Amino acid sequence: MSLILNQSSHFSFNNSYIKLPSQFYYRQNPTPVRKPNLIKLNYRLAEQLKIDPNFLRSQEGIEIISGNRIASGSDPLSMVYAGHQFGTWVPQLGDGRAVMLGEVLDKNNKRYDIQLKGAGLTPFSRMGDGRACLGPVLREYIISEAMFALNIPTTRALAAVTTGEIVQREENLPGAILTRIASSHIRIGTFQYFAAKDDLKSVKQLADHVIDRHYNGVKELENPYIYLLKELIKRQSSLISKWLGVGFIHGVMNTDNMTLSGETIDYGPCAFMDNYNANTVYSSIDQFGRYAYNNQAQITKWNLGCFAASILPLINKDTEASIKIAKELIEEFDDIFNEDWTSVLRSKLGLKEEYSKDLDLGSRLLQLMEKDSVDFTNAFRNLSFLSDEKNKSDKNFNKLFADKLAINNWLSDWRDRLNNEKIGNKERKSFMLSCNPAYIPRNHRVEEAIKNALNEDYDFFNKFCEILSHPFEEQPLNKDYLNPPLPNEVVLQTFCGT
Ligand code: AMP
Ligand code: MG
Repeated sequence: MSLILNQSSHFSFNNSYIKLPSQFYYRQNPTPVRKPNLIKLNYRLAEQLKIDPNFLRSQEGIEIISGNRIASGSDPLSMVYAGHQFGTWVPQLGDGRAVMLGEVLDKNNKRYDIQLKGAGLTPFSRMGDGRACLGPVLREYIISEAMFALNIPTTRALAAVTTGEIVQREENLPGAILTRIASSHIRIGTFQYFAAKDDLKSVKQLADHVIDRHYNGVKELENPYIYLLKELIKRQSSLISKWLGVGFIHGVMNTDNMTLSGETIDYGPCAFMDNYNANTVYSSIDQFGRYAYNNQAQITKWNLGCFAASILPLINKDTEASIKIAKELIEEFDDIFNEDWTSVLRSKLGLKEEYSKDLDLGSRLLQLMEKDSVDFTNAFRNLSFLSDEKNKSDKNFNKLFADKLAINNWLSDWRDRLNNEKIGNKERKSFMLSCNPAYIPRNHRVEEAIKNALNEDYDFFNKFCEILSHPFEEQPLNKDYLNPPLPNEVVLQTFCGT
């Protein structure tokens, strides 16, 4: 297998990261694979990126997204970064199995990285083989696209190919490559890498690049770096509150898995919870629940602290003054998050007006859900239907709860609160249905899709992706997918599967 260098280009690459000095990356071509086969292509995303989907499914297109051919204009590279993994400092990580082909501008002139995940060895592979296996690639495809459809900022999946090669893990598994799209792959860990080396010049270059790319208007301000920190705090707070609003648990919120763009990145052992329990953890490697559902906000704050520490000299030349400013900003996270989370809960409850007891009302419902092991997604979806049927039966909602008295009391308080709203019942119902999804990538279904795919049957995977692309719509033919797992279908643990 040799790498083909291509002259014709169907991608209009417009690369900016490679213009940074060489310490930011290693120029790295993907390693060709034996027998690439396209298993999934995201037509809508390809069109958004102005890449002809018909070209992508052609032999030449498939060769490009499997790393066997370099398109003209592509300047492949692997990025260097560091990070705190489960709180432990690792001075050098980097793209150990990912190669960025380049950047393109989409239909709206928005810049995106195109990256192949699973593209072979790089100088940052450490003990790894540079490859990815089919299961985790499909997992990331399903969940990242589901997150997008749920209106949650995220990296996306443009395509998935199998490589025709075997990847050795605990067992031999089929190899695969995901084409990942991100508004950038710059992580808190990218800053940490240079800060730990006391390379202030690079930290500043990186910060300027990030501001140019993601933080419009900040450059002109008196100290753009303070605003960068402020804005990142806001973006991450908003992101995490959206995660919580759909029951999402990332699972590996290491600082190298947290972006400067504010997009969710690195779908490893992540999962959506079925029944509500604030302490839920799925990841097999998260033994102490560091990244449990209800720890995610505090971990975000901790990660933001790491970011602040890595740009301290940019905040103020005087270290003490700089620490003081950074600390104050980081301390604001709790209030910002509290507001964001309250606002997510308000929407889930159909509330447009703002009352101080709204958080309490929402939290009480969550407590009842926890006590009775109620399905998080179905509870809010069913509540949405109650909002315009004041006098009708509360059956579908009530039946989820064992403690009827408690839930009826709660419903009565909720209805009292609705009296303070200006919008009508009908409007509230459609608002709630647009905030409370019916369809989420439930773990047992994700596992089913992967299991079938490993037997070369992609029908279920394709159907599941289609269902998840309209999560707020009623889909009468797909009602089965609303159901939480039966006791024998419950997935208790998820794995990195790298
Ligand atoms: P992740 O857990 O996917 O965020 O990865 C953490 C680090 O391990 C990153 O630097 C990855 O590039 C690296 N890594 C994960 N899997 C592999 C692999 N199969 N080969 C080489 N590096 C890997
Ligand atoms: Mg990672």
